[in-house]
Amino acid sequence: MNNMQTYNNWRLETDSDQILWLYFDKQNASVNTLDRSVMEEFSIIIDNLASDKTHQGVILASAKSSGFIAGADISQFTQFKDIEEATSVLRLGQHILDKLEALKLPVVAMIDGFCLGGGLELALACHYRVAEESAKTRLGLPEVKLGIHPGWGGTVRLPRLIGAPQALNLILAGHTVSGKAAAKIGFVDVAVPKRQLVHAAKYYVTKKPPRHKPTALQKLTNQKLARQAVGYFIRKQLRKKANPLHYPAPFHVLDNWEHIGVESDAAYDREAKSCGKLFFSETCQNLVRVFFLQDRLKGLAKESPFAPKHVHVIGAGTMGGDIAAWCALQGMTVTLQDLEPRFIAPAIKRASALYKDKLKERYLAQKAMDNLIPDVNGNGITRADVIIEAVIEDLAIKQSTFKMIESRAKPSAILATNTSSIPLDDINTVLQNPERLVGIHFFNPVAKMLLVEVVKGNRTSQEIVDKAISFVRKIDRLPLPVKSSPGFLVNRILMPYLLQAVELMKEGVPMTTIDKAMTTFGMPMGPITLADTVGLDVCLSVANYLSKYFNTPVPQRLVEMVEKRKLGRKTGEGFYKYDKRGKQIKPEEKPYEKPLDEISNRLVLTMLNEAFACLREDAVADGDLLDAGMVYGTGFAPFRGGPIHYAKSQGINELYQQFVKQQEARGEKPEMHAWEATEV
Ligand code: NAD
Repeated sequence: MNNMQTYNNWRLETDSDQILWLYFDKQNASVNTLDRSVMEEFSIIIDNLASDKTHQGVILASAKSSGFIAGADISQFTQFKDIEEATSVLRLGQHILDKLEALKLPVVAMIDGFCLGGGLELALACHYRVAEESAKTRLGLPEVKLGIHPGWGGTVRLPRLIGAPQALNLILAGHTVSGKAAAKIGFVDVAVPKRQLVHAAKYYVTKKPPRHKPTALQKLTNQKLARQAVGYFIRKQLRKKANPLHYPAPFHVLDNWEHIGVESDAAYDREAKSCGKLFFSETCQNLVRVFFLQDRLKGLAKESPFAPKHVHVIGAGTMGGDIAAWCALQGMTVTLQDLEPRFIAPAIKRASALYKDKLKERYLAQKAMDNLIPDVNGNGITRADVIIEAVIEDLAIKQSTFKMIESRAKPSAILATNTSSIPLDDINTVLQNPERLVGIHFFNPVAKMLLVEVVKGNRTSQEIVDKAISFVRKIDRLPLPVKSSPGFLVNRILMPYLLQAVELMKEGVPMTTIDKAMTTFGMPMGPITLADTVGLDVCLSVANYLSKYFNTPVPQRLVEMVEKRKLGRKTGEGFYKYDKRGKQIKPEEKPYEKPLDEISNRLVLTMLNEAFACLREDAVADGDLLDAGMVYGTGFAPFRGGPIHYAKSQGINELYQQFVKQQEARGEKPEMHAWEATEV
């Protein structure tokens, strides 16, 4: 083989054992992704290797410290002309991987860091796979999360290798697993510590042990009878998790497997055709859009070189405790202050449970615990780079807290409040340098909610906002810059929607029907369940607060529930009742005859009305950011691409007219502001 030829994305080196090291080093990129030019070069290399007599084998590795291969380049997903073109590109990729698999030389994929999607499909076409064992190495086929499924043979090779149950489990849910778990499941030959990775890879090239084979039972799971017997049950389970109209991709995988299995080459053809079609589904287009929205939020942090190491949190309650725990999990040194040690103790206990859950290795959990330091006297204030106030929602208490903080904090530290509702320009009046105060508004539960609103008051300096955004990224959250207007963005849009749902109940619509209507629309949970989960006291206080600024009447029913201490899931009863483990008890309700989409339409229009008001008032810079906020802050049906995108796809003016008509029919004063979305 001609070793001297140079490639843009690949580097070839022969070591003293005559092993060819094939390094993937994508040009002008920090992460390895697969695109047309990468695959074209790869194809040439494979063709050359087919007649290679000088090497004893090939080790395919990444030259990037960021990981092995992150998957296909997603920007290419939206560039296909039509289904035929998408299908033929997939067929071509399959053909290249077939050539790789057919090589006589043993080929080992040496996986360190993420190996996802097309990256894993490529690794599956290698003869052996060795992986770094830690949880940092993630392997999986997460394509369904983008509305497609693997298209380079992954849905064929994986079930062949490890049997259908485990393979479908991974593909249908798009789960990723660690190197160690992958070895246990069997699609990685061995998982070893990083220091032994090269040695392990060389072992497979030089010793050529028998390749991994499925057990007889695993093999049986792909047979026609087995497919017919279990396909029905898998589909039933799948339907509980996903609606095929919203998320068709996993159902395609199942259909393909059921109808054609994985033994014949026709399976590859069917995979490519099925995936090619999915590229043109609305779901895929919208999920790709949401993926890029996430990228945009991540990209906001690029400007600032701020490198915070120490976070001080004041207020160890629901939010402060969980914010502190999260920051410590992300490697920050965290000091946590409250009025007395007994208020900090529950937060430390919750943190310990979180670390046990998130970090499977005991020593890592201990390390995270070591980062979290109870600090009743607030000694951490003088050393912290970021100080987050999360005391109770009371202006006077927040003001006195910040006066104290400002007198002790180092000048470079940013002062942040987690307030949900108090305008920053009210809090910062007590500060000598009001431009230092920024809002860093987390959502509950902190460990689950990706979005964090970064709130700019009139006096907040842009430098502090940039630092706050940078901090939010450093703790692996998505920053959304918003203006310090009442309710900021997410709560402001959510609240009229929740209150409208309570109104529907008053009109006699069963709450289970209301919830069903919205989960059918694509929300992760219905509005009544959401209100119970957030806590009705929290809902009431936000509703009371927002009603001062906007024309939103607070439903009497909500007030009464809070008076009776029926606060939702946390007290065992809200609108619904909950058992001891917090599981919702479905009430007996009379059947409701009218179509569900009448209900969802009314609720969604209410939400859209507030969303357009936010755009009009510049609560957020543009519709795309608003969509990102609602998807990542509330779980707004991602396959619909966000509320503004949804409105655009349905016709903004038409929806607005519907909304006005509905208001008139209810005898309400109709909304006079037409909806408008500026193009970004
Ligand atoms: P919480 O009542 O659970 O916790 C507040 C904590 O602050 C308590 O532990 C209290 O002892 C402590 N505290 C009060 N005064 C203090 C002082 N002077 N010094 C030190 N500690 C003091 O409240 P929470 O729900 O965690 O809310 C905290 C803040 O976060 C509020 O501003 C709230 O609006 C905001 N927030 C809450 C949520 C939510 O869902 N709960 C979501 C986002 C933002």
